Amino acid sequence: MKIYIDGQFVDKEDAKISVFDHGLLYGDGIFEGIRLYQGCVFLLDEHLKRLELSAKALLLDLPLSLEEISNVVCESCRQNQLVDGYIRLIVTRGVGSLGLSTRSCVKSSLVVIADTIQLYPPEIYREGLSIITVPTRRIAPAALDPRIKSLNYLNNVLAKLEAEQMGALEAIMLNNEGYVAECTGDNLFIVQGNRIITPDPSSGALRGITRQAIMEIGEELAMPVEERNLTRYDVWSADECFLTGTAAEVIPVVKVDARVIGKGKPGKITLKFLDAFHQRVSQNGTKI
Ligand code: PMP
Repeated sequence: MKIYIDGQFVDKEDAKISVFDHGLLYGDGIFEGIRLYQGCVFLLDEHLKRLELSAKALLLDLPLSLEEISNVVCESCRQNQLVDGYIRLIVTRGVGSLGLSTRSCVKSSLVVIADTIQLYPPEIYREGLSIITVPTRRIAPAALDPRIKSLNYLNNVLAKLEAEQMGALEAIMLNNEGYVAECTGDNLFIVQGNRIITPDPSSGALRGITRQAIMEIGEELAMPVEERNLTRYDVWSADECFLTGTAAEVIPVVKVDARVIGKGKPGKITLKFLDAFHQRVSQNGTKI
C-alpha cells in the first residue's frame, strides 16, 4: 500500500509523522472520509468544500490548493490500483514545539490513505441495525461546532466504546439538552408517515455529505427532509429509522434502546432512499 505524505508516496511501513505534529499532540487538524466507487471518487468536490470550511474555521492553511488535493486523492487511488475503496484525507497543523500555540507550526501536513472499508456485515443492510443511546454526549456546538470535521473525536470514540461494551455496533449520541444529535460516525433520520426528519447541525450533528445527498434525494422524490429537534421518543415511535455516512452509506435501523422500530424490518421509504442513493453512487463520481 502506498500512502501520500507531504508530496511523496511511501510504503505503509514508512508512512510516519513527527511526534511534534500538533495533530498528534492536540488533535489539531481536520479530516475527510471519501468513497471510491467503480473508479470514480464520489462527491469529491463536496468533501473538499467541507475540508476547506473546516480549515477556515480553524485558521488552518491547507498545504495545497483544492485542485491539487483532488489530484492527490485520485493519484492515491491509482497508486493502490483501487476500483472501489475508502480514502482518508488528513490535514494536521504540522510540526511545532510543545505548547498549544500554533505559531511554531510553520506548515500544515497532508496525509492521504487510500484503502478499502467494510463497516458493517452485509446482512445488517438486509435485516437492519440494532442501536442504543449511550451516556457520552456530543460536544456542544457552542464549544466546538459539529460542522468542523476535526481530529477531536474523543467523545465519539467513547460513545462507540460504550456501544460496543453493550453489544451494539452504533450508538445515538444526545446533545447537552437531551435531544438526539447523531450517531458516533453517522447521521440519523426518522420517517413518520410521509415525513422524513433529521436533526439540524445546531443539535450537534455533522453536516454529513451522505446526509446532504439524502436531502437532495428527498427533494427529487417529493419527500423533503425536515431538520428539527428530535427526542428519543420521536425515534422510538418512528415508523422507520436509518443512518447515513460515507462508510456506512444508508443503513436501516430496526431497534433502538430495545424498542422495535416500525415492523422491525427495513422500511419501505428507507429502501426507496437506499435505492436512489445507489443510483447516485453510479452517476456522481470524479473519474480517477
Ligand atoms: N457524523 C459523524 C460524527 C461522522 O464522523 C460522520 C462520518 N464522517 C458522519 C456523521 C457522516 O458524514 P458523511 O456522510 O459526510 O460521511
